[in-house]
Amino acid sequence: MPRPRCERCQRPLDHCLCPLIPSLDSRTRVALLQHPSETDHALNTARLAALGLVNAELRVGEVFADLAELLAKPGYRPVLLFPGEQAQALAAYDETDDRPFMLIVPDGTWRKARKLLYMNPLLEALPRVTLAEVAPSRYRLRKAPEPGAVSTIEAVAQALNVLEQPASFDELLRPFEALIEGQIKAMGVDVFERNHGCSSSTPPRS
Ligand SMILES: [Zn+2]
Repeated sequence: MPRPRCERCQRPLDHCLCPLIPSLDSRTRVALLQHPSETDHALNTARLAALGLVNAELRVGEVFADLAELLAKPGYRPVLLFPGEQAQALAAYDETDDRPFMLIVPDGTWRKARKLLYMNPLLEALPRVTLAEVAPSRYRLRKAPEPGAVSTIEAVAQALNVLEQPASFDELLRPFEALIEGQIKAMGVDVFERNHGCSSSTPPRS
C-alpha cells in the first residue's frame, strides 16, 4: 500500500514540506506547464514553485486547450522561459515597463519541454527569455542534461530575482533544499550500508 501523502505538497505525510513553503507575492505572473510524465517525479519542483508563489499556477498536460485564454490575461506580457536563438536575457524591470511578464515555464526534461512547444504552437510563437547568468544548481542528484541547466524551481527563483530586484525570492527554495538534503541523507545511509556490509543499527568499525 502506498504511504499516505500530503494532498498539498504530495510528499509522504511524515515528510510533508508545507511548513517550509512560503507565500511570496510577485509582480510577475508565473505559469508552469508540466508534462504529465513529470508529475510523479520524486522532485516535483514545479509544484513546489507554484505553491510558494501567490501569483502562480501549475497546469499539467500535453496539449493545453485553454492556452489562448491564459496568454490573454490582462495586465501581463506573456513570454516563454526557454532557450532559443532570439531569446532575450532577462533584466530588471524599469519605469518604462508598464506591464510585468507572464512567465510561461515549461517543466520537464528538455525533450519533453520541446515536445510541449511542438504540441502547442501558441507557446512556440511566444517571445523567449532566458537567464543571463545561471547560478550553479543545488540539484546535485539528477545529472544536469546540459551545462547551466537548473531545476524548474531554481530557474523560477532566479528569473524573479533578476526581474524584481532588489526583492529576493530565495525563500522559495527552502522546501527544495530540504528535499535535496533529505535525499542526500537517505543516499548516505544506503552507501554506508553497502560499504560496511552491515545494517545501519550496527556501529561502524574503524
Ligand atoms: Zn505538505
